[in-house]
Amino acid sequence: MKQKQVHLFSSDFWEKEVEIIERKILEDIQLEGLNCSIEKAKKSEFYGEKLKNIKKIKNFEDIEKIPFTTKDELLKHSPFSFIATDLKNIVRVHSSSGTTGRSKYIFHTQKDIEIWADLVARCLYMVGMRKDDIFQNMMSYGLFTGGLGLHYGAERIGALVIPSGAGNTEKQIELMRELKTTVIHITPSYLLYLAHYMEEIGLSPSNDFNLKIAIIGAEPHSENTRKKLENIFNINIFNCYGLSEMNGPGVAFECPYKEGLHLWEDNYYMEIVNPKTGKILEEGEEGELVLTTLKREGMPLIRYRTGDLTKIIKEKCKCGRTHRRIQRIKGRADDMFIVKGVNIFPSQIETVIMEFPEVDKNYQIVIDRKEGLDILTIQVEIKREFFKGDINELRNLQEKIREKLKERILVTPVVELIEPGTLPTTTGKAKRVIDKRRL
Ligand code: ADP
Ligand code: ZN
Repeated sequence: MKQKQVHLFSSDFWEKEVEIIERKILEDIQLEGLNCSIEKAKKSEFYGEKLKNIKKIKNFEDIEKIPFTTKDELLKHSPFSFIATDLKNIVRVHSSSGTTGRSKYIFHTQKDIEIWADLVARCLYMVGMRKDDIFQNMMSYGLFTGGLGLHYGAERIGALVIPSGAGNTEKQIELMRELKTTVIHITPSYLLYLAHYMEEIGLSPSNDFNLKIAIIGAEPHSENTRKKLENIFNINIFNCYGLSEMNGPGVAFECPYKEGLHLWEDNYYMEIVNPKTGKILEEGEEGELVLTTLKREGMPLIRYRTGDLTKIIKEKCKCGRTHRRIQRIKGRADDMFIVKGVNIFPSQIETVIMEFPEVDKNYQIVIDRKEGLDILTIQVEIKREFFKGDINELRNLQEKIREKLKERILVTPVVELIEPGTLPTTTGKAKRVIDKRRL
């Protein structure tokens, strides 16, 4: 097998002064930004009422006096009640993909769109994308932010953008080959499928393309999945985090060191809180990410509960950027499921199964209840060469996966090994858990 290329990019910056800004100055900017954002937000009908008694905050501790904003509030109130400027200044609306319910609408002014494009450009430049790159955006275009969000950022850098959107895998491959695509943006589950598809039609993901970089985001994935994909394609893969409520992709992004995602603190104020009590946690403790927009005009959001679980990495990053990093998102607080009384995140299961070289690219978690007992089944696609191999070896593998899972998640699952290409695939966000107890 070809040696995996390990190549760190030169530490050039898109906006150097901002990216390596001194913490003290950054904190001053944040405090001012918070007050500014609160005042701006009060111009909206929703916050005008909610924050009417909130005075200027003098330090970061004061922030606990400000109430959270929740997803529920976004859903319950009229979308227009969050607009903090004259409607004539709004130039675009996006909405969430609705993975967990109804859509939330987010409004942007021209300046908001400009700032977002710059933020995304900052991310893309950080991982080595340049003017001469050919960027194929395999995320859905339209209301979903993964399309236009990355599109504008890539254009800002001056790259050639192929707005291919998600799906139509055959066409994607044709575009990649004919236009010599060097960078792609894609969900991790679709990237796994893309590799599978290439292999099925006799193409080598690592040799038959010009790909250098993939940006993956929009859904949780484990470090092992990244490594597996990096090996299959022989490229560098970076994790991109964002949510529509905070514009979309580009809120936090990995740098070439891939040890956490820099969250752009000149644009967002971050807190990590206990998801149950809402108390702010110490730096380094795991909890729910809460974000406040510091610059958005159209629709400022104050102390927004993202529902995403992560922690702040305290150490300074080797790349020199001073914006703190968050650890890859473990999942959403509402992704967690409980089996036999034990709390489990899909990401824990993914980490274990992707450690096995025999495991192919797709898996699914099924939970059922029989005679009052929870049954957790993990269906795992196995690489064709192993799948067709010795039945005893397969049994052995099944046993090893079951044991490893039991050790990590404390519940003994049923492990089903299945043929590659059998499980449903998606070009958007993957649905990994099927909980039949709720059906
Ligand atoms: P929806 O909530 O409808 O899925 P979005 O399309 O705005 O709406 O998705 C944002 C959510 O997607 C985030 O809150 C997070 O849960 C998930 N997400 C986005 N990027 C990542 C990532 N890199 N890793 C893990 N989860 C992610
Ligand atoms: Zn870094």
